[in-house]
Amino acid sequence: MNIIIGDSMNETQKKIEDLRNKLRYHSDRYYNDDAPEIEDYEYDMMMRKLKELEEQFPEYDAVDSPTKKVGGKADNSFESVVHTVRMESLQDAFSKDELIDFDKRVSDVVSDKHYVVEPKIDGLSVSLEYRDGIFVRGSTRGDGDVGEDVSGNLRVIHNVPLKLNKPVPYIEVRGEVYMPKKSFDRVVDRQLLNGEKPFKNPRNAAAGSLRQKDSAVTASRGLDIFIFNIQQLEGGTITSHKQSLDYLKELGFNTVPFYKRVDNIESAIDEIDRIGESRGALEFDIDGAVIKVDEFSSREILGSTAKYPRWAVAFKYPPEEKQTKLVDIEIAVGRTGVLTPTAILESVHLAGTTVSRATLHNQDFINEKGIAVGDIVTVRKAGDIIPEVLCVNEHNSDSIYTFPTHCPSCNEKVIREKDEAAIRCINPECPAQLLRNLIHFCSRDAMDIEGLGPAIIETFVDNGLIKSTYDIYNLDYEKIASLDGFKETSANNIRKSVEKSKSNDLSKLIFALGIRHIGAKAGKLLSDHFRTIDAIMSATVDDILSIEGYGQIMAESVVNYFKTDSAKELIKKLSASGVNMKSTTEVKDERFAGMTFVLTGTLPTLKRNEASKIIESFGGKTSSSVSKKTTYVLAGEEAGSKLDKANALGIDVIDEETFMGMIK
Ligand code: NAD
Repeated sequence: MNIIIGDSMNETQKKIEDLRNKLRYHSDRYYNDDAPEIEDYEYDMMMRKLKELEEQFPEYDAVDSPTKKVGGKADNSFESVVHTVRMESLQDAFSKDELIDFDKRVSDVVSDKHYVVEPKIDGLSVSLEYRDGIFVRGSTRGDGDVGEDVSGNLRVIHNVPLKLNKPVPYIEVRGEVYMPKKSFDRVVDRQLLNGEKPFKNPRNAAAGSLRQKDSAVTASRGLDIFIFNIQQLEGGTITSHKQSLDYLKELGFNTVPFYKRVDNIESAIDEIDRIGESRGALEFDIDGAVIKVDEFSSREILGSTAKYPRWAVAFKYPPEEKQTKLVDIEIAVGRTGVLTPTAILESVHLAGTTVSRATLHNQDFINEKGIAVGDIVTVRKAGDIIPEVLCVNEHNSDSIYTFPTHCPSCNEKVIREKDEAAIRCINPECPAQLLRNLIHFCSRDAMDIEGLGPAIIETFVDNGLIKSTYDIYNLDYEKIASLDGFKETSANNIRKSVEKSKSNDLSKLIFALGIRHIGAKAGKLLSDHFRTIDAIMSATVDDILSIEGYGQIMAESVVNYFKTDSAKELIKKLSASGVNMKSTTEVKDERFAGMTFVLTGTLPTLKRNEASKIIESFGGKTSSSVSKKTTYVLAGEEAGSKLDKANALGIDVIDEETFMGMIK
């Protein structure tokens, strides 16, 4: 009997620990990296499960459990701010019944009370402090007790007043910094264009933007703020929440919008429904609505737990699901060449918006769910997130949808690389990818064309001056000089840098082409090894694999790229425009070209770095480990495992005397 109980307890303990670890992991991704890996709803459900278990098995409770902690931890790249008034979190509710329960708990303690209902803004919590009406400090919530001083970044947010309408001796307010949907779209668009990882949602974008070292970056992100609470006040008396919001407005704060005071929980629930209905049309994301007891005297009686006040509850709109018909599948080509499928649906009303499109991710996702055009599917939307197809309810076809074999934008054959879910178009001249490719082509490590930055390239594309990469070398400078914001001098400066780029080393052109997996260093290796574009274009995978630093995926990527007609055409046109197609790095004597040496042991006269220099000056390379690609192992006294490995692989082992003979 004892053993059975013991076993079952261990299982429970394991389950609890497992949930705690998972929650800690995801909390870290969310708060500290601004890059969540799971949806909020999934996280909330995990937290709920843990709470239930901890309540059921109090013997396994722990003070450091995620159920008792608020938010993330303060980053030491900013100064710490100890909050005088703790910045608490909120208890959550996912159903009307839970709201009724909340009301019961409140009514048991205080009888005469009102509620205020407000939208719950999906951003990050900050505190703003003012002395004599002047902004003196702003900080993040952090773990509720200690946050980060981000005053400089808060100052650049338009709606953070630097001076209040009244010189209040001291006031600390709490608000939510958020990124309006419009700013989010613009920021993500820019990130994609620059080949950066885009923010997942406006909340993470707001958090990432507020915790920047450079305020200019924060300023460029178009953040905004809503204020929803007075934390501390000197020089005034306020007795209710509604009164404090009205007062905050008077002082010049942008208070949380459409807040409403109601008499009872039923009216509060009506208000929550009304906010829920409107959320799709709002210019900012909300992840719920908050019900707060209005009277401060009642709040004091109700008090707080370690994590949240007992006088407030956040209703989180649960994800909504509905069935509809999938009428078509649209394939779009992203700026990185990835083909993404979107389900076109018969419109349904979901989570406050009309949904007629849902993401299908990739071919694996479609296969896994068994999706085809004409199916009846279940679609899910959780507030701000993009709707997704959950499952197929009625499959009305003999087959499953398969991706097109050719790019819908340029009709070039598409490819799927090993171990990758994405199917992509690698045509360098694909119109869908043109802008991004051009920006990369002109960037510093690529062709380094000064004056042709992202904004100017975009203007030229919009004005029809660039339709393809090689148009950079056929620009109409007269037309450029006549464009808004341009003059003859600026047009001439661009001409000069375009001309200068023609004599770049071949390695810069290779990198500029944007071949997948080929960065600046790999471009240089390729250019140094083959020395002309013709040699590179006719190289086989094996030829390329002989370069130290190249692996199968990179070699295949180069060969696949130059196989396409569009790449051949591009090179032909660039060459005709006068772009250099040869390596310009000097190699005096190339007797070691293509060879890799490994040095081991102590040589009689040469130091290791001297030997390396000699090898490189003759076009060879050195490596620290022996592999099949090693040409020679130059071994001295007390050579160890490298020598054994060379012998095992049948690599030629030479001594210093032989080496000196080779370089004579
Ligand atoms: P919360 O976001 O659920 O609620 C508290 C916060 O609401 C406050 O800090 C405040 O800043 C904000 N808020 C917005 N409008 C408000 C208003 N009008 N009145 C009062 N407060 C308002 O709690 P939390 O502790 O900040 O965050 C926990 C939530 O974060 C989780 O419930 C989950 O949804 C999400 N999360 C997600 C992941 C993930 O991996 N997806 C990980 C960790 C946390």
